[in-house]
Amino acid sequence: MNLLNFIKEYPDENSCMEHFRRQRENEGIKCKHCGCKKHYWLKGKWQWQCSECNFRTTLRSGTVMEHAKLPVRVWYLAMAFMSFSKKGISACEMQRQHGHKRYESIWSMMHKIREAMGKRDDLYTLEGMIEMDEAYFEIATAEGTKLKRGRGSKKQQNVVVFAESTPLEDIHTGKKSKHCRYFKMKVLSDQSSEQINDTVSKNIDELSIVFTDKSTSYIDIANYVDVHITEKSDDETTKTTLRWVHIAISNAKRTLLGIYHKIKGCYLQRYLDEFCYKLNRRYFDHNRFERLTLALAKIYW
Ligand SMILES: [Zn+2]
Repeated sequence: MNLLNFIKEYPDENSCMEHFRRQRENEGIKCKHCGCKKHYWLKGKWQWQCSECNFRTTLRSGTVMEHAKLPVRVWYLAMAFMSFSKKGISACEMQRQHGHKRYESIWSMMHKIREAMGKRDDLYTLEGMIEMDEAYFEIATAEGTKLKRGRGSKKQQNVVVFAESTPLEDIHTGKKSKHCRYFKMKVLSDQSSEQINDTVSKNIDELSIVFTDKSTSYIDIANYVDVHITEKSDDETTKTTLRWVHIAISNAKRTLLGIYHKIKGCYLQRYLDEFCYKLNRRYFDHNRFERLTLALAKIYW
């Protein structure tokens, strides 16, 4: 799918609403009131009615689009831009492409889409062999925004990064390499080992094998996973044991810096969610847009 196909397939508001309805039905409609999953579609009203209690669910309710005023097609076009562009797109550029008057509504819509991306990836835990390390991302502090541009307004934010990585041996050459699969990046609110343990238990399957450096914050990780293997942090470890986390960290920094000049600490997780969401779906080129609409059709009640 590219922009030309998009314009052909979604020429107006109705085609987008109709597609979104199908995506929601693919995800499954669940009644907020009684939890029943059987519904009837009320055609003229764009609502589903619960077959148990008659409670009605609107096209957007329960999704990240709920309460948003922008037309569904604006959301669809935004999702199209976000999934077609390899690196990402700034809210400023998005506003220009839409020819929309208000920056704020475009900006908050994009954050809602990132939120849906993050929630989608949070449904899964990583498993198997996992590389883990911490990275420091530059963020703008609240006080910094009051200062003039370029005057010491930046701070480092601690982020823990996980990468599923499976060792492979080439049967012809006998050469060993590692294959990477899924990634996660989570902002840490502090540097305590409790925070690390909590993040590990939420994001990694308990039967996993985790590789880290010898940082003292990782002291209790073994309690949350099957095996915890530590290695001294040096150039060799960076290239082998923790290869994929380091590649992902430098790519994320380059991507984020290239598009967003100043990221406020409270939004960093959203940008990382978008980065990981795309990275985890790097092989789904042609149906990335379709999957993103499905992620937005998900309800969280
Ligand atoms: Zn019901």
